Amino acid sequence: MPSATHLLRPDIAALESYTPIVPLEVLAARLGLPIDQLVKLDANENPYGPSPRALAAMASYPYYAIYPDPEHGRLREKLSHYVGQPPERIICGAGADELIDLLMRAFLTPGDAIINCPPTFGMYAFDAALQAARVINVPRDEAFDVDIEAVAQASEDHGAKMVILTSPNNPSGNLMPRADIERLLELPLLVVVDEAYTEFAGSSVVDLVGHHPNLVVLRTFSKWAGLAGLRVGYGIVHEEIITHLWKIKQPYNVNVAAQVAAEASLDDLEYLTGNIMRIVAERERLYEALSALSGLHVYPSRANFLLCRVLGTKDEGRRTKEDGSMKNSGSSATEIKDALAQQGILIRYYRAPELRDCIRVSVGTPEQNDTFLAALRGLFA
Ligand code: PMP
Repeated sequence: MPSATHLLRPDIAALESYTPIVPLEVLAARLGLPIDQLVKLDANENPYGPSPRALAAMASYPYYAIYPDPEHGRLREKLSHYVGQPPERIICGAGADELIDLLMRAFLTPGDAIINCPPTFGMYAFDAALQAARVINVPRDEAFDVDIEAVAQASEDHGAKMVILTSPNNPSGNLMPRADIERLLELPLLVVVDEAYTEFAGSSVVDLVGHHPNLVVLRTFSKWAGLAGLRVGYGIVHEEIITHLWKIKQPYNVNVAAQVAAEASLDDLEYLTGNIMRIVAERERLYEALSALSGLHVYPSRANFLLCRVLGTKDEGRRTKEDGSMKNSGSSATEIKDALAQQGILIRYYRAPELRDCIRVSVGTPEQNDTFLAALRGLFA
């Protein structure tokens, strides 16, 4: 039998597999708990789910046997009002994830350089690797701010084509100052600003797209509108570039249910804004409660999650509170994550060295957050 593995692209053959997320029912079975007892705070999803209008619109939509509108015209009209940009500058994707991939396919050929500012969303480096691009990492500082001049220097040194930045950043939750983005826009680069969490921050640079042909802003319905499972995101892209993205996009990339649900969400902003406000209020309550635990340093966040550094653990890179004291929680980030998972509470932890002593918790409902806090206090007691 002839094998075909030697015919694979060598860079794909050598690529490490992506660790897939375990489905809820599998997790529940593994932990021996019913699904509705899981407190899922590990993927920055919206604990309130979709708007009832989105659910009703999907239930009553009659044309699922027909292919979707490849230009998602109605959705772009509604998005145009939502973002204050003309529909001609808007393109939709199966999640912001698809648009990240699309941009990299449009701009990066093997060996091209892209600037990444870790710690940040992992898909940037992953998608760049699929294009066999060179990922030039310009690490963020201790407060997770981007060193703009270091980005400018690295861009010049490596002849980079693109820089991709998240604001608010995942996993740290901090915003990029608008002036920093304006400075980057002076460089001969495509500047991609991923605003997946912008609705929780109340701050955006989308208004700059019309004035800067080298700016792309990415957004999603996964977080604020509770549609993560339906996969719908969009990009606001200058006319000079968007035509090229239309050429390479799969025609039916956004499925009909996702388009219907996204349109209905934009018709139900009052309801969804109420949920955003609840999440933001809970974020602040959670921040205060977590900051009161002596074993944690909590980073201020403008998103729907909080990053916490576990202090004085066995992990390398032991850290101290600002007052210089070393409080010992006794548990490492992974031990905390495992102990919470045993109780059905799921949070995110990291293998990257700079985050190995960190956990990230998504903001849930008040009840979910109380369950998480009580369990965490139990571990720190
Ligand atoms: N960008 C960032 C910064 C994210 O954190 C995520 C989701 N975790 C995405 C993009 C992907 O969003 P979507 O669900 O729209 O693909």
